[in-house]
Amino acid sequence: MHVLILGGTTEARRLAELLHGEMPDTRVTSSLAGRVAGPRLPPGEVRIGGFGGEAGLAEWLRAHRVDVLIDATHPFAETISFNAARAAATAHVPLLALRRPGWVAEPGDDWHPVDSLTAAAALLPQLGRRIFLTTGRMGLAAFAGPESAGLWFLARSVDPPEPGQPVPARMELLLERGPFTLEAERALLSSRRIDVLVTKDSGGAATAPKLAAAREARIPVVLVRRPPVPEGVRVVTTPAEAARTLTDYARRGPGRSR
Ligand code: NAP
Repeated sequence: MHVLILGGTTEARRLAELLHGEMPDTRVTSSLAGRVAGPRLPPGEVRIGGFGGEAGLAEWLRAHRVDVLIDATHPFAETISFNAARAAATAHVPLLALRRPGWVAEPGDDWHPVDSLTAAAALLPQLGRRIFLTTGRMGLAAFAGPESAGLWFLARSVDPPEPGQPVPARMELLLERGPFTLEAERALLSSRRIDVLVTKDSGGAATAPKLAAAREARIPVVLVRRPPVPEGVRVVTTPAEAARTLTDYARRGPGRSR
């Protein structure tokens, strides 16, 4: 059986490790977009770079005789998830989406859900002046417009923005990769006198301590909601559940495992 994992997340890497250990006869290829310099590589085969849209992905599935496609990309990687759904249907390959659950508010949280980075930028001037922006370098342009003129940003990302990419006028850049501890997040909020946190609803434990730190400090959080999973796609929430589904599939075929 040949499994293609669309990755770029901790869960995708973990699934590749699980399959490597538990299903040694399965050929596993992990695919990365190539956005991050020096990514942590999973075991098994790895390919890097886009497929050339949904048609390119469908062709890749056929040419490499993929039996199951796992979309384990980040909950906000909307284009590749849409392409995966269309390509899997075209190539008649079963598709499973692996999505970690979103975060759930706790007592004391002051969350302001929005549907986009643009909506987050529009809301910020009502909430504070010193913003901790954790939505990644690709989204910095949304905070470079006139509505952000009076604001100061602490922007944290794994890699720096591209040269020439629009970024907020008043910004400190922090290049760091999670996981982050509660202690470190507390210290960051306090040393930079942060009064608003902006985050995508990425879910997962690695970056959750910033939410606890914001709760403690009574700082409002602008939370960008997730885009929906493409219609009709089966979703599992953990690498272990994905591995179990694949074991089932290998044993009984796709018809009865769905
Ligand atoms: P995206 O907007 O959904 O995808 C843009 C294009 O990048 C896709 O059309 C595809 O190119 C290529 N691509 C994306 N993921 C790929 C993969 N795993 N393998 C091969 N090609 C891929 O994606 P994005 O939001 O820029 O995210 C890119 C990668 O970073 C994803 O793998 C995702 O898991 C990871 N990531 C994203 C975020 C986030 O907040 N968006 C956060 C952490 C990690 P073609 O059309 O040419 O095939």
